[in-house]
Amino acid sequence: MFSIDVTIVGGGVVGCATAAACARRGWSVVLLEQEADVGRATTSRNSQVCHGGMYYPAGTLKARYCVTGRRLLKEFCAEAQVGYDECGKLIVAADGTQIGELERLHALGTENGVEDLRLLDRRELSRLEPGVTAEAALWSPRTGIMDAEGVARAYARQAAASGAQVMTGARLVGLGKSGRMWDVVVEAGDSARDGWRHGSRCVINAAGLWADRVAALAGIDTTAREWNLHLSRGNYFAVDTRHAGRVKHLVYPVPPADGSTLGVHVCLDLGGRMRLGPDFEVLDADPRPAAGFGLDTDLDYRVDPERAAAFHEGARGFLPWLEPGDLTPDMSGIRPKLCAHGFRDFVVRRETDTGLEGLVNLVGIDSPGLTSAPALAAAAADLAAEVLA
Ligand SMILES: Cc1cc2nc3c(=O)[nH]c(=O)nc-3n(C[C@H](O)[C@H](O)[C@H](O)COP(=O)(O)OP(=O)(O)OC[C@H]3O[C@@H](n4cnc5c(N)ncnc54)[C@H](O)[C@@H]3O)c2cc1C
Repeated sequence: MFSIDVTIVGGGVVGCATAAACARRGWSVVLLEQEADVGRATTSRNSQVCHGGMYYPAGTLKARYCVTGRRLLKEFCAEAQVGYDECGKLIVAADGTQIGELERLHALGTENGVEDLRLLDRRELSRLEPGVTAEAALWSPRTGIMDAEGVARAYARQAAASGAQVMTGARLVGLGKSGRMWDVVVEAGDSARDGWRHGSRCVINAAGLWADRVAALAGIDTTAREWNLHLSRGNYFAVDTRHAGRVKHLVYPVPPADGSTLGVHVCLDLGGRMRLGPDFEVLDADPRPAAGFGLDTDLDYRVDPERAAAFHEGARGFLPWLEPGDLTPDMSGIRPKLCAHGFRDFVVRRETDTGLEGLVNLVGIDSPGLTSAPALAAAAADLAAEVLA
């Protein structure tokens, strides 16, 4: 059995960025991804927004990692030639009663270190974004959009160039302690290759929708820690292409008070396509198999066309030209949330209990996990350094 320094479970944007960060430090690294390629799961099913960081309670990991992650991602995309557009974002107040909330977000964002935030009145807003009607807005010029899957692939290439073994079609199915090493059991997803086992001094769990299952496989009581993931779907509807170019910036409503989501917003992609989403669909049952693992790409991502009316109702206040027939079901993504409603921070934790030493868990990496990926990766690599010291 061969031995290596660090095994990373999960080749989403977080696992790929972590593999690059660890390989750069000169450690031997294996990245395990069960899908046929990296970045195919939640990483490629989201709004692709590089968030500013004005929503998250001050001092939380979400606030800190989002702010540093956005700066790092912008630099990384420029270096690695991955698509990125600093298009800017507006949070709009439907009427005077919501202006207080914009002021609160302005103050919170400033405290979190978000640059260049500015409150706009109705006239300034209509000059900047004539396609949108609202009483006032919070303008975040540093918010951007990116090619999220391209970011994951570029980090995986960078990791491989630094010597990491990026193994796709490779599913972790067993994890046990053998002395000071982790015994890592891998099942290969194609018939041409046998599975294998290897020893690893450190294991980093970056398994997204399956991170609670990986933690349980290692022997953690995920119920006691309140780490069992609550999966909720976020649906998107495409806006008819006859409106292409009508809105130039990302446009968000004032977020719902419970902190579960940012509200249905106007998403733009690098190709100029406009979508509305995501909403918040609580799933009646866990869509994953009852035990073990499955492919994210086998989960049900169908968008119920009946939801179009609610999307239209939610957006027509600030997009008065939007007609019900303009919306077509598009895609959806599934959030790995630590609570069904409300706010929970990312879990980034090195295990120190006997029997679990050497394990680093990243659990509940929901939004802004994409934006935070480089900062999460740096934090995970720092924890791996403590294990390997
Ligand atoms: C609807 C929606 C909108 C969002 N919008 C944004 C946004 O605009 N901006 C933002 O910053 N964030 C956003 N997010 C959050 C962001 O998408 C996630 O936080 C981020 O993609 C998480 O990346 P990840 O690498 O942790 O997870 P994933 O991309 O899910 O990757 C985890 C990987 O682990 C693999 N894996 C799991 N188990 C195993 C195993 N046993 N063996 C091998 N491999 C395994 C999976 O196949 C998967 O590829 C959004 C999320 C959703 C759902």
